[in-house]
Amino acid sequence: MNGFSSESVNVIEEMKKRREQIQASKAAKEATQAPTRLPKGFPRFIAGTPMPITRVAPKVKPNEPCPCGSGRKFKKCCWRKQP
Ligand SMILES: [Zn+2]
Repeated sequence: MNGFSSESVNVIEEMKKRREQIQASKAAKEATQAPTRLPKGFPRFIAGTPMPITRVAPKVKPNEPCPCGSGRKFKKCCWRKQP
């Protein structure tokens, strides 16, 4: 039992080289395919800054007129429609 012969070591080295080559070509492909810049008109808020969260439901007291403009009191209109 000699463990690895010099020949099998060479084979392993060869495989390593090939794998490195494949990975290098893969990386190069991805680098060329991936867009480095965002397309024109791409909204900036998607690109990093979080979107401003606008609450759909305003804070209205139940006895105040409904913000939807129905003229009814909030509690009798959209109060229950809220999620
Ligand atoms: Zn309403």
